[in-house]
Amino acid sequence: MNNYIAQLNESQKEAVLHKDGPMIIIAGAGSGKTRVLTYRIAHLMQQGVDSFNILALTFTNKAAREMKKRIAEIVGQSEAKNLWMGTFHSVFARILRSESEKLGFPSNFTIYDTQDSVRLLSSIIQEMSLDKDKYKPKQVLGRISQYKNSLITVKAYYTNPELLEADRMSGRPKMGEIYKNYVDRCFKAGAMDFDDLLLRTNELLTRFPDVLGKYQDRFKYILVDEYQDTNHSQYLIVRALADRFENICVVGDDSQSIYAFRGANIQNILNFQRDYKEVSIFKLEQNYRSSQTIVNAANSVIENNQSKLDKTIWTQNDKGDMIKIMRTLSEGDEGRFVASAIFEDQMRHQLSNDQFAVLYRTNAQSRAIEDALRKKNIDYKIFGGLSFYQRKEIKDTLAYLRLILNPNDEEALKRVINYPARGIGDTTMNKLTVAANELNKSIFEVIENIDVVNLQLNTGTKNKLRDFVLLIKSFQAEAQTLNAFEIAELVLKKTKLVRDIEKDGTPEAISKVENVQELLNGIKDFIEVQKEKEEDDSLAVFLIDVALATDLDNDKDDKPRVSLMTIHLAKGLEFPHVFIVGMEENLFPSAMSMNTRSEVEEERRLFYVALTRAEKQVYLSYAQSRYRWGKLVDCEPSRFLEEIDEQFVQQIAPKQPQFKQNSFIDSDIFGETPPETVRFKKPIGVKRKEAPKPIKKASPVQGNFKRMHQVKMDIPEGPFATKLKVGNFVIHGKFGKGEVLAIEGNENDQKAEIKFENGEIKKLLLQFAKLKIV
Ligand code: ATP
Ligand code: MG
Repeated sequence: MNNYIAQLNESQKEAVLHKDGPMIIIAGAGSGKTRVLTYRIAHLMQQGVDSFNILALTFTNKAAREMKKRIAEIVGQSEAKNLWMGTFHSVFARILRSESEKLGFPSNFTIYDTQDSVRLLSSIIQEMSLDKDKYKPKQVLGRISQYKNSLITVKAYYTNPELLEADRMSGRPKMGEIYKNYVDRCFKAGAMDFDDLLLRTNELLTRFPDVLGKYQDRFKYILVDEYQDTNHSQYLIVRALADRFENICVVGDDSQSIYAFRGANIQNILNFQRDYKEVSIFKLEQNYRSSQTIVNAANSVIENNQSKLDKTIWTQNDKGDMIKIMRTLSEGDEGRFVASAIFEDQMRHQLSNDQFAVLYRTNAQSRAIEDALRKKNIDYKIFGGLSFYQRKEIKDTLAYLRLILNPNDEEALKRVINYPARGIGDTTMNKLTVAANELNKSIFEVIENIDVVNLQLNTGTKNKLRDFVLLIKSFQAEAQTLNAFEIAELVLKKTKLVRDIEKDGTPEAISKVENVQELLNGIKDFIEVQKEKEEDDSLAVFLIDVALATDLDNDKDDKPRVSLMTIHLAKGLEFPHVFIVGMEENLFPSAMSMNTRSEVEEERRLFYVALTRAEKQVYLSYAQSRYRWGKLVDCEPSRFLEEIDEQFVQQIAPKQPQFKQNSFIDSDIFGETPPETVRFKKPIGVKRKEAPKPIKKASPVQGNFKRMHQVKMDIPEGPFATKLKVGNFVIHGKFGKGEVLAIEGNENDQKAEIKFENGEIKKLLLQFAKLKIV
């Protein structure tokens, strides 16, 4: 297909066709930035640029896959094959794999995921006899991550008085020592954590000019999506690689920068023009994703931010429905509102589940939504929870596979040295850990030399340890000839891991066994796909993929489902109908991000991202009270609700259906309250101060919200919910006479399939369909 240029507007076309040199496309949400990047790559290839020379960096691997698919449609499958596309982490993990020995790491280095890193830090904090309340492993990891993303090595840390002072002031004077131990232990284990993948790439490119030269030559064209969320470490990598040809194209939207808390630096986009000479700047202003109402509402919100680049977005799309705002009593009520609204929309407009997304500020909010969706039998999928690869049974299996490639991997070894049980207890492990630290060896190396190291272990224990080493070595020998799938099967058979799970006999055990089976299927799938693409199908590559997989990548699902995710995860995605729940002060904006103007501005950008995910309809909801940290607190509606220009919003309230005997009018679940009660008016001339708001127990009704009615969510059952039977004849106001063919669902969801006299078969929700039995 070659008419891709025709699928672009004038400004997009200019950006796609632009000649070489540094360029930045800066534009609002939904204006086709990702599309331009995709088509630009295809166009470069059409112009004769070898795909081997193109590097594209995306925010998720899923986005990379979708882009590649689109490019393949334009230039052909085999042409697109060599393109390097993916997240920073996955692309540079691959580069490191072939270069890591220069840095003293094995080529089969392990990638520690967050769980591994937290476990390692827990051990270190314990070994150092530090207070676990002061040194919370997750927080410590966050701090270390900040250092690494700013390229502060252990040595740099110790020579930076400000950092030392900051950690001392925050009651963690031992941070430096923990950081050093953590880095040493990762190095000894031949492991890199997520941040190392960027930090070590920087080290590689700085210390080895020939390596840098090689990749500069290779990546003649570099393209980066979502550039506003790159951190310093990523920024430096891109700069270094693009230094020779300066064919660097970045796209982004400063209004969607939402990862400052993870070190993203909005300045990267703002300073791009300073970094390169003769930068070509492109602006895209037409939004193709959302209705006029959504685009304008989002504009009116982001207006409130002081620091932003000047740009506007507009759309030719339909005006669309108003943004609906719903006040609910509690989080449970909120969940029921979401589920009912989805159900209603589906019934009315024949929509499938995958047209809906529910977005929230914090993962914990998903529970109430899930409960309500389950009750209504609506299929959903949560993104960002415990991913498949983090389940215990899966991590255990993977730990064996990791050990085969890298026996020094300490976290993998600790997971499985005594699982399934082999009689190697905590005391033995403590002795081994102490010896490993003293000798500066890995635990595996200590066990290999158990006869030489004086550890005061009895012969029985020594034998068990020897057996374990032998087991791993036998796998290593087999791995020389077997493929990834065969070796995984062998591991499961020899370790009797599945048998160990099964012996529980519980339903959970059965599902765990199924998960392990699914992992095997996944490996088989991986091998087939890699073969097809003529790419490396080794166990090592599989393990890299797994370590960097997020469940956004796991989309080979059978059924359409409602997507549930945090707003952060939703970046770059789009859905026809979007619910943004928990629109309350201290939740959104988050209580932790209200101390400075810039924190509140980042929360506002997050709200902008959320609104602009929607194509047709946005629902916003807030609860009057909700359980937080185990206490029921009163909530105040989010300031962001007031910030949406009032002409685009509409307060809705569930109306109690009127079941008048002979009324044939279809009733709405959501009536509209009179106009005077719906406004979120700002007092004229007064702008809310952006100053921090103290976290307080808010009174339930405040300001303009006082005028709102108390709403009642419970909807009484319809008169036919229990009476109607298959075979009954009924009369409907609009469709006339019909026969009931089937009844399904329960309680409030009961639906009847009815064949009407005009031949049409309809499924009607009994609660609302006004039917009369005849
Ligand atoms: P975000 O800021 O959310 O990442 P974006 O600027 O990357 O958004 P895209 O995702 O590329 O925007 O485009 C938004 C939607 O508009 C997509 O569905 C895309 O296919 C569509 N689109 C973009 N440009 C055009 C066009 N010229 N004609 C028709 N549809 C378009
Ligand atoms: Mg995009």
